[in-house]
Amino acid sequence: MSPMAPNIDGTADILPPISTELPKELNFIGKTPTVAVIGGGMSGLRAAQVLLQKGYKVVVYEARDRLGGRIFTSNNLGKAVDLGPNWIHGTENNPVLSLAEISGSKLHHFSEQCPTYGFDGKPLDQAEAEELSELMWKVIERAVEYSKHCHSAIPVEKSFYDYCVEKAEELFGTKVVNDEKRKKELWLSLAEMWGTFIGSPVEKQSLKYFFLEEPLEGANIFVAGTYKSMIDTMSNPSLDAGIVRLNTPIDEIITPVPGSRNRVMLKSSQKPEENCEVDAVIVTIPLGCLKREMISFQPKLPKRMLEGIDSLSYGTLEKVGFRYILI
Ligand SMILES: Cc1cc2nc3c(=O)[nH]c(=O)nc-3n(C[C@H](O)[C@H](O)[C@H](O)COP(=O)(O)OP(=O)(O)OC[C@H]3O[C@@H](n4cnc5c(N)ncnc54)[C@H](O)[C@@H]3O)c2cc1C
Repeated sequence: MSPMAPNIDGTADILPPISTELPKELNFIGKTPTVAVIGGGMSGLRAAQVLLQKGYKVVVYEARDRLGGRIFTSNNLGKAVDLGPNWIHGTENNPVLSLAEISGSKLHHFSEQCPTYGFDGKPLDQAEAEELSELMWKVIERAVEYSKHCHSAIPVEKSFYDYCVEKAEELFGTKVVNDEKRKKELWLSLAEMWGTFIGSPVEKQSLKYFFLEEPLEGANIFVAGTYKSMIDTMSNPSLDAGIVRLNTPIDEIITPVPGSRNRVMLKSSQKPEENCEVDAVIVTIPLGCLKREMISFQPKLPKRMLEGIDSLSYGTLEKVGFRYILI
């Protein structure tokens, strides 16, 4: 297949293309470069799909016995439940929305039928819930702008929640009583929900860096079905091409292979029969695996990259599933 061959499944017509230009030295005349993709989550599968479309030889190495990575649908509760993502955060220029549409995933707009419960456990009046929620989103937008433009003046210990408390006083006053007091408290508790969006409590999210959380424009959509059909759509090209190696954690990447021009060696101590040489590698393993140095890179990754891996952090998001027995 030539690098300009048509798409194998048509999805690239809908999903925006990503740059697939490999370094010039890989475009050997008369030889199709082989690219190894480490990790069979959404990133690795998309990379493999695009490379296949462009005519490269591709192999996907996945440590686990399944594809999808953090996207995983469980049937343990007797009903399909996503243990990983459920949301499409922002619809403008979000390729995940295109993927949801072409894979026929059932979507639900957050603003439709989303009951909010008050402190007494009873649903809030819909109009009031919408008013408070809209106010919350406006404050989030303002916090992003403020953090972006006044970044250097904001002390690192000032949290997004501190900002919300200030805004609550502006919005509802300082000495509020009765209904205004209830509204103010409700609104502040809505602010805490932003913590679950990000995976860390709002009191811990520094306002100084809040601009980094700027969501994509557009609606937040809940995937009311599951992400399964999306990950299946992404997996199929690689599975059909027979290029997936499951249960194959790569633990060593040596580049360049001594004595071979620009070749890279991959090693898996768990599956030594899969050790191989390739022309290029795309590593899509999670940040946590990089932090724990689960792959040894020879030579070591550049200092700048190691510092980035070290200083980046991520939140922890736990999901709890309930099954109600109706009697
Ligand atoms: C609970 C939860 C909820 C989330 N909710 C949302 C949401 O609502 N919306 C949203 O947009 N995002 C959400 N996310 C984030 C989203 O799931 C991830 O951003 C996305 O799935 C990451 O895909 P990835 O391919 O980059 O990484 P991963 O899915 O982590 O894939 C990496 C793969 O690499 C494999 N691997 C690791 N080490 C090796 C190795 N040495 N050799 C070979 N393979 C290896 C892993 O097994 C894994 O399959 C959520 C995440 C979690 C955990």
